[in-house]
Amino acid sequence: MKMLLVAEYRDGKLLGSINELLGFAAGMAAEVAVFLVGKDDTLPKFAGRLYLAEVEKHLEYNPDGHKALLLQAVEKEEPDLIVFSHSSYGWDLAPRLAFALGASQISEVVAVEGGGFIVPACNAKLRRQVKSLTKGTVLTLQVGAFPAADNSDTPPTVVPIDTDAAPLVRFQGYEAAAEGGVDLTKAGVIVSAGRGIGKPENVAIIAALAAALGGEYGASRPVVDAQWVEHNRQVGTTGQSVTPKLYVACGISGAIQHLAGMKKSEFIVAVNTDRDAPIGEIADVLVVADLKQFIPALTEKIRSL
Ligand SMILES: Cc1cc2nc3c(=O)[nH]c(=O)nc-3n(C[C@H](O)[C@H](O)[C@H](O)COP(=O)(O)OP(=O)(O)OC[C@H]3O[C@@H](n4cnc5c(N)ncnc54)[C@H](O)[C@@H]3O)c2cc1C
Repeated sequence: MKMLLVAEYRDGKLLGSINELLGFAAGMAAEVAVFLVGKDDTLPKFAGRLYLAEVEKHLEYNPDGHKALLLQAVEKEEPDLIVFSHSSYGWDLAPRLAFALGASQISEVVAVEGGGFIVPACNAKLRRQVKSLTKGTVLTLQVGAFPAADNSDTPPTVVPIDTDAAPLVRFQGYEAAAEGGVDLTKAGVIVSAGRGIGKPENVAIIAALAAALGGEYGASRPVVDAQWVEHNRQVGTTGQSVTPKLYVACGISGAIQHLAGMKKSEFIVAVNTDRDAPIGEIADVLVVADLKQFIPALTEKIRSL
């Protein structure tokens, strides 16, 4: 099995997501080559060929130019799998490449099972198993779904690539979202509200426990989408990645996109009415209870200590 992994370079830096792609390849014992539009002073470390295009010329965002460069690497490597992160760069570039190659694309892969790929469906309520029918296959991997590779000291063999394909859009730069509100990444304790809280008034129950523990409260995406909690408190792939000493997940099922943002917490307590909820697989303690009864009782107890 041969893989071409697509590394990302943003705002002058190589992104760490390449380590998860390398981990995915190692898990499948694949021979690896990497593609990067970046700079030669920040290269990923791995044993293999690195197809490197200069970011000064090809810019950080230039999908048509990057596609033309990638096609060169694909032609040289003839990989079985071309693997992107399921990131804004991957979402944009992977389908263009798949279309140009006439290859299948499987997006947001979270596992490999039975010779196929598992992807979430119906807002992660279902897992869909998909097999590719084309010779080459383009994948995007969900962030956090595969363990990062162990650090390597081996520098890659750099193969410079270039193209004069004219860009069809002009990258003008990034604009950071306005800062403000809470920074969950600095909290030692986070108590998070999931859809299981049932109604917006119950956010207060979660916030009260967080305050009693001297921490902050967070939320899963449905709670934020419903505007019960502001977006800067969302935990997960499209929210913040947090690593508190204690994470209390209240009424949260444990979808991969939520786990990706909190599974590195030191100690995880989950409160859920469903003893089989997937969050139980990573929780240190699973309390099978109705959060509306359990959380206020726990808060009361902590306050009385
Ligand atoms: C591209 C993409 C990006 C995403 N990014 C994120 C992200 O950043 N963060 C994120 O969280 N999600 C994200 N999601 C959504 C994710 O797939 C899940 O839909 C979401 O995490 C589910 O949230 P939840 O666990 O709160 O709700 P549900 O999955 O509906 O789970 C609710 C849980 O509450 C339990 N429950 C119900 N009543 C009670 C009660 N009274 N007491 C205790 N437990 C109860 C239920 O048993 C259930 O386990 C993303 C999805 C996509 C497609």
